[in-house]
Amino acid sequence: MEFEAVIGMELHVQLKTETKLFCSCRVEFGAPPNKNVCPVCLGMPGVLPVLNKKAVEHALRVAIALNCRINRESLFARKNYFYPDLPKGYQITQYTTPIGWNGWIDVNGKKIRIKRVHLEEESAKTVLEGDYAYIDFNRAGIPLVEIVTEPDLTSPGDAVQFVKTLQTLLRYLGVSDADMEKGQLRCEPNVSVRRRGEEKLGTRREIKNLNSIRSLERGIRYEIDQQIKILSSGGEVERATLLWDEKEEVTRPMRMKEEEEDYRYFPEPDLPPLLLTEDFIKEIRKTMPELPHERKERLIKEGLREYDADILTRDLERGRYYDEVVSLTSDPPETAKWVITELKEKFPPARELAWIINAVKEGKITRNAGKEILKEVIEKGKPAEEIVKEKGMTQVSDEEEIRKLVEQAFEMHPEEKERLFSGERKLVGFFIGEVMKLSGRRANPGVVKRMIEEMLG
Ligand code: ADP
Ligand code: MG
Ligand code: ZN
Repeated sequence: MEFEAVIGMELHVQLKTETKLFCSCRVEFGAPPNKNVCPVCLGMPGVLPVLNKKAVEHALRVAIALNCRINRESLFARKNYFYPDLPKGYQITQYTTPIGWNGWIDVNGKKIRIKRVHLEEESAKTVLEGDYAYIDFNRAGIPLVEIVTEPDLTSPGDAVQFVKTLQTLLRYLGVSDADMEKGQLRCEPNVSVRRRGEEKLGTRREIKNLNSIRSLERGIRYEIDQQIKILSSGGEVERATLLWDEKEEVTRPMRMKEEEEDYRYFPEPDLPPLLLTEDFIKEIRKTMPELPHERKERLIKEGLREYDADILTRDLERGRYYDEVVSLTSDPPETAKWVITELKEKFPPARELAWIINAVKEGKITRNAGKEILKEVIEKGKPAEEIVKEKGMTQVSDEEEIRKLVEQAFEMHPEEKERLFSGERKLVGFFIGEVMKLSGRRANPGVVKRMIEEMLG
């Protein structure tokens, strides 16, 4: 293709704190409108913001995980603009001195540079209904981190992988649930297109209102196509902010992009500079959790296939469950197999699955019985051991008992027996199957095979 796309991303992440960034109102998802408000987050005159330490810790964790340089001293600034959901008439944000800058993150082997990570406050939420716009101030003042990349992404797929990687990372860090559908993670890609071989970047347009991974993918794809059309017909792309129309799957112009100077940034006079001491940063570094890439490497070292390690890294809930079970089985590959292939959404208590895995390994029950028991444990919430006792599902390995079953199978199929004894060895499998049936699937297949072979002499 003659053209290539260049994409940079801006992410907004709602931080999981108890209270808002500059006041003590609760952060609560789904609360009745305008329940969690006070003079500070309503932007009343004469009130003073007080910075939430927890939010600073979270933002610092994000900056560290993204390999950023850390600004030990940063100023908050006022970004001025008028909007009904911004009662103060300005947003408090970090401008010249973000908490983190010049970082990077590996996305499937590709290094994506991070330009900045900064703290800012969320605006209120506008809800459109019929002819009215309602404003819910619960959201006003919730802490956000904004993460901005350099334009290092080159396709919609890249952008999707980037966002998914970030989503997993944020959840590991415990700083956000990062659910796009709930607006806890919002991404605004900047998209431009240039002729292949051209050094200068094309004019970019920003897409807003992408509320899912699917929209992100489609929105970027659509915009790349649009820009290629404009350029190939000799036109010029104009700088703009676009809104994704999810129903029609098209972008619509929202406004011509404001220039930096339109915001009249200036230092926030009501907040002192934010100073991060060496000790504070050290403490945060020390308490960083295991990161996704570290976890994946560790799981592989412990004997998991890369594919399984990947699933148990990306799916945090399943991964944590796996950790619990494996601590009781000490058999990573076997445990991974059960946790990945035998469980859908419902996870039984870890000790129950561990009991089943151990019982199969010890030969107490067959693998198939194990799977059946697992189903019952999940459906009925009974302990595995109890189900085994009730149903008499323990595996039969007793040679005498099995020999009797083999003889019974021979009696039932005299013709096949004849052929087997005259050398048709493939019938061993047939008789193993018959014995398994006769035993109600409880016979140990290894012992059955050995008994048949012994009897063949
Ligand atoms: P602003 O401060 O005006 O928002 P930034 O320089 O911070 O602009 O860039 C915003 C985002 O746009 C960043 O993610 C950046 O990587 C991306 N970007 C900048 N130039 C381009 C371009 N020509 N094409 C695509 N993305 C770009
Ligand atoms: Mg910006
Ligand atoms: Zn408040």
